[in-house]
Amino acid sequence: MRRQGAYDADSIPSFADLADASTADRAALLTPLVARVRRATRRYDAALPDVHVLRAMRCTPEERKGLIDGYDGRTVAMKRALAGMCATLPDENADLCPYCSLDQNPDLDHVLPKAVFPEFALYAPNLVPICTVCNRKKLNVVRSAGDRVLLNPAFEPSVDEPIVEAQVAYRGGQVVVTYRLDDHGQLPVEERGVARRHFARLGLAGRYRKRAHGYLAALKTNLRNRSGEVREAALRTKLEGAALFAPLNGWEPALFRAIEDDVPAMLTWLTPR
Ligand SMILES: [Zn+2]
Repeated sequence: MRRQGAYDADSIPSFADLADASTADRAALLTPLVARVRRATRRYDAALPDVHVLRAMRCTPEERKGLIDGYDGRTVAMKRALAGMCATLPDENADLCPYCSLDQNPDLDHVLPKAVFPEFALYAPNLVPICTVCNRKKLNVVRSAGDRVLLNPAFEPSVDEPIVEAQVAYRGGQVVVTYRLDDHGQLPVEERGVARRHFARLGLAGRYRKRAHGYLAALKTNLRNRSGEVREAALRTKLEGAALFAPLNGWEPALFRAIEDDVPAMLTWLTPR
């Protein structure tokens, strides 16, 4: 999970531009909606990041279908406009899903789902490139008991501090990594609640644990025929590199911070018996 930053404002295609770039049939449905959709998007911008409080625009079944089909049946010109917008996200880790920072981001998620809020089906700030696993786990969920469920990666987490923590334990020759969220009081209270729901909804504790276990198993295999000195040097290099290149609140820096707490224990585990 990480704050990815926002699209460059000049790159965001307007609803009218996207309607023009649609097929002639859909453009005929979408163009009369431009003024209403523009008003809805002003409400969206004013509510950010708490867009879960918005009510859906009233529209006829035909208008709803036109808006959803406009997205689902994107023309090459529309895809190009949206891809150009996505390409303006900051380069650092831009190819990683911001919801999890685990995998690449081939899907465009609708923050407010298009089935409920078709007026934002083509609204660029409502579209976030994410991974398929997060997309599947999120489904159409926006809120839980009135509270927002997911962080908005354009703004959040709002502090540049580690809020994902790992613990490494050694049990019977196995290494067991567990993850949890702990912001050490750094996040605003409401955002802390959103971060916890985000972490739980997307199953990040389990997904991070699996990734860490796979990583450590591969590391152990790669280092099994090396001397103790080489093994330690390799581990130290990894400890330094994780902090430099991986997203701050991904699985990797949290794992390496936990390993740093007891490097000898990790070296013992990495040493073949
Ligand atoms: Zn993801």
